[in-house]
Amino acid sequence: MHVKLQQHKAAPKKLDIDKYSNWIMVFPLEINQSRPYATVLSERRKTTGGKKADTTPTVCDLPNKQGSHVAYACINDKMSSFELLTLARKLVAEHESFHTKEIAVSVSDFDDIKTERITEAIIAAILSASAEMPSFKSKEKKSEKLARVHAFGVKNSHGFRRTFAEAEGNALARSLSMLPSNKLTPSIYLRRIKELAKENQWKLDFYDTRALQKKKAGAFLAVSQGSPTDDAGIARLRYTPAKKSRKGTLTLVGKGICYDTGGTNLKPANYMFGMHEDMQGSAVALGTFLALTRLKVNFPVECWLALAMNHIGPKAYKPNDVVTASDGTTIEIVHTDAEGRMVLADTLAMASKLKPKLMIDYATLTGACLNSLGTAYSGAFTNKEELIPILVEAGKDSGERVWPFPMDEDFDKAIESDIADVKQCSLESGMDHILASRFLQRFVKNDTPWVHIDLSSSNRKGGLAHIPTDTTGFGIRFTLNFLLDKKMM
Ligand SMILES: [Zn+2]
Repeated sequence: MHVKLQQHKAAPKKLDIDKYSNWIMVFPLEINQSRPYATVLSERRKTTGGKKADTTPTVCDLPNKQGSHVAYACINDKMSSFELLTLARKLVAEHESFHTKEIAVSVSDFDDIKTERITEAIIAAILSASAEMPSFKSKEKKSEKLARVHAFGVKNSHGFRRTFAEAEGNALARSLSMLPSNKLTPSIYLRRIKELAKENQWKLDFYDTRALQKKKAGAFLAVSQGSPTDDAGIARLRYTPAKKSRKGTLTLVGKGICYDTGGTNLKPANYMFGMHEDMQGSAVALGTFLALTRLKVNFPVECWLALAMNHIGPKAYKPNDVVTASDGTTIEIVHTDAEGRMVLADTLAMASKLKPKLMIDYATLTGACLNSLGTAYSGAFTNKEELIPILVEAGKDSGERVWPFPMDEDFDKAIESDIADVKQCSLESGMDHILASRFLQRFVKNDTPWVHIDLSSSNRKGGLAHIPTDTTGFGIRFTLNFLLDKKMM
């Protein structure tokens, strides 16, 4: 990341405040009157009506030489992580697009743990806002790039390493997802993956359609056969810890449909628009993989990305086709827009054959999940029920919230097929997110503990939590909390 952090253990003195033109400050409900400019800030907050805990910032230009621009809030320190990150995003937005090289952060008069928690949220929001996103405007506005964040009042010495790793992974996920599908075809995507593999010393294998034919991966190929360009395939990346580890492998899997037209069951215009982001699951898997690499985790990690387009065309698969997946399961096609579970079926089967300790997949999979949860939560599914409370807690603690759905066997009734082992989906049911998960779990081999995240919060107007763009890259912060704080690996 191009942004550097400088920590100052003490709270800022008047001299410090006058030095920087852009400030974010957080106080308890009452501003300690011994703090510099406390009177100005308290008075200003009164005129803007602030009495109780703030959920939106107050803005004030200080009466010093450069008129330091301060966005601040007085908060109740019991705020949830989601609320705190949301406030942090708003505080950062008051500094617009950083026409400044430096920004200073002060969190004062909380205990050390709370100070660190609040500062972390602000740094996460600053890094999210300053990350460069793709733009194809012919006349680009040139502005100063943010280079340094000064954090006052934080005692720790870890330098918010994890926040930086998560931000880098998230920026990668968002920037890939925002690329239109003519700028991110499976072959361009693969080129980018190759570059990243080289930079990060990852091992890379790519199973192209010929290799997948050999593996009889008929579920994946049913989708990719509709493309005029034969560039689909499954990328497998591997990270090995520096010190030999006897720990089991974590496997991340992502749906990478670079464009989803719906296929033969063509989507109408208002549902097709935005479908270049149907690869966001793969981008989140890759971003998580990058963040874990940056943190030099002590367990092996694999990342499997199913890259394809879901096209219309004379060769495209059709409803009523019967195809055979790599594990021998025969599938009756019902709706060609349910392509995500098709490419994931073979990917999950191939990845879980290698007996990972834990497998997590990410996919913008179903409209049903979106209808059930909206865009502020993503759906969580697992074949190990005991993981459910841990998943929910990781969502709450990270501020990237997930909510579980049931996965009992009797749901399978709705996808029983007369002609094949299973139906791809059901035309009758509103519970497609659950049926999709029931469908996918068949392809998870060796009783591998498996978590499936249906990314209903991948795109939210105005951003989500600390993320300011509509494209959220949701899932990296959640996953790192689940893996590292909840000690899943
Ligand atoms: Zn689809």
